Amino acid sequence: MTDHTPRLLDALDAFEDGIYIISEDYTVEYMNKFMKELFGEGVGKKCHEVLIGSDKPCDWCKHDEVFIKNETNHSEVYIESVDKTFFLSELPVTNQDGTKSKLSIYRDLTRRVQREAKLKSSKESYQRLFKHVGCGVFVSSKQGRFLDVNPALLKMLGYQDKEEFLSLDLARDVYLSPEDRRIYTDIIEKKGKVVDYELRWRQRDGNILHILLTSIVRYDVKGNILGYEGIVVDQTRRKKHETEIKEAHDFLDKIISCSPNAIMVMDMEGIISLWNQVAEDVFGVKSEQVVGKMSIQQIFSNKVAKNVTEMMKDEKFGGKGKLNSYPLNFKREDGELVEGNLSASIIYDGNGNELASVAIFVDLKERLQTERELSAARQHLLQSEKLAAMGRLTSQIAHELNNPLFGIMNTLELMKTEIPPENKRRRLLDMSLSEIERLAEMLKKMLSFSKPDQAERQAIDINVVIDELMLLYEKRFRENSIKVMIDLAEKPGLIFASKDQLRQVFINLFSNAMYAMPDGGNLEITTKVVPKKLFIIVKDTGTGIKPEHIKKIFDSFFTTKTESVQGVGLGLSVCYGFIKDHGGEIIVESEEGQWTRFSIMLPLADK
Ligand code: ADP
Repeated sequence: MTDHTPRLLDALDAFEDGIYIISEDYTVEYMNKFMKELFGEGVGKKCHEVLIGSDKPCDWCKHDEVFIKNETNHSEVYIESVDKTFFLSELPVTNQDGTKSKLSIYRDLTRRVQREAKLKSSKESYQRLFKHVGCGVFVSSKQGRFLDVNPALLKMLGYQDKEEFLSLDLARDVYLSPEDRRIYTDIIEKKGKVVDYELRWRQRDGNILHILLTSIVRYDVKGNILGYEGIVVDQTRRKKHETEIKEAHDFLDKIISCSPNAIMVMDMEGIISLWNQVAEDVFGVKSEQVVGKMSIQQIFSNKVAKNVTEMMKDEKFGGKGKLNSYPLNFKREDGELVEGNLSASIIYDGNGNELASVAIFVDLKERLQTERELSAARQHLLQSEKLAAMGRLTSQIAHELNNPLFGIMNTLELMKTEIPPENKRRRLLDMSLSEIERLAEMLKKMLSFSKPDQAERQAIDINVVIDELMLLYEKRFRENSIKVMIDLAEKPGLIFASKDQLRQVFINLFSNAMYAMPDGGNLEITTKVVPKKLFIIVKDTGTGIKPEHIKKIFDSFFTTKTESVQGVGLGLSVCYGFIKDHGGEIIVESEEGQWTRFSIMLPLADK
């Protein structure tokens, strides 16, 4: 071995590069520790034997350049036996004795090469991802330009030319308003990032694009903001979907709230989950009072709710889970009567499990009321027709009877002049005459009943009519121990009526009242005005009327006065005819054994 200074050689052992020296005939003169660890001890052997196990020099060997041309050489070599790549430096060294050797330094590049390869491959995969990922990816500058964008973002915003896209002014061309971008940059610069930030961008054709933006800030080494990078997810379809769902929901809501019927939805325990406007009106409870708070059992009774559920479950009433029509009448909490028809059905899920029930209530109160009024009107019409027919008949009878009756009366009066008062027969004659007079009075009543609409009408103050009658009746009331209490409206207004007929009405009412109070009692006469109407109330504390009679008392010829010829049952039917004829109403209320009250309503005359 040539004289390489041993101290220097020891130092070479500390290197992490492989170092060896060979003589001109390829014999290894020195190997440092790193080299020995890699290839084993090789001093004295041919270098190619040690490195590649060959008896020929290595391909890369720059033997001649070093030994002949005295040049230093650098190259990159891969040695298979150790699976490593080296950066190789071969340089000539002149020994002290004038001979030449070659110093080779093998710097292990494997790790760097591997790192670079890895870096390259990961860069490629990032590029692939950037290119093919479904969401938009961008890098933008602080000033507001895109520096790079992926094809997905180009497509999302409707651009084909990337150059055109990169020239856009973000605040002006992409954000709906520059203000939007300012708010976004404020937030991201404060927080360093934004996640799922909702924004609206503008596409190339001007359409609005709803996006979710997730991005971070890019800083330079000094910490200054360079710009932003992030990903963009298109929300337009989701937004559209949301809008469609909302529209469908609103539409359904409108149908439910505009329905003319009450619609209610309950869970299977009966807890109310939907209560529309009509339900509020019909049942008199607000939606916020019931939804989630009350059960249907609290609105209807437990019994009704149970009946409805049972009928829904029974196929007989409209098929499985259905109840076609159930008449439902009940009293609301405030006492008002609810009348109508309920239909209901169970809502099932996909597996046939019961989820909820929906009920629709059709309010028939008004219809039933109209029907009742119609029926009453029909009844009244019948009554009027009966009255008219009766009127014609009675008028004929009365006419027929009138003349012979007056003939008899005249004859009896004549006979009276011939029979002196002290004569016994004279009493019989007087009795006959008085009965004939009663008969004549009855005929008069019958005639007035038959011609109700022939009387002349004039503007009348009802208080005057009552006052005049009281003058006539005062004495009779007193004699019958009847205390009269009069409470007249101060200014009752005028009614357009026949004074005679009104008198007849009160005479009939007073006579009946007197008859009902044989042992005396109280008679109250009241007049009251409500807008455009006059009320006259006559109340006595007499025998009252039996409930089974009360419906019939305005019928012609209905009477309970059977003894002698006390009544013919025409009084009230005449009253009824007169009042109706004046466009008014007459009703009776009574409690048997206690009192009877007749209330008359007459329309006030227009000024
Ligand atoms: P009449 O007086 O000839 O019987 P009305 O038509 O006047 O005929 O009366 C019919 C019936 O109504 C009477 O018979 C009586 O039973 C009943 N009535 C009328 N007014 C009263 C009253 N104030 N109190 C009790 N019953 C009455």
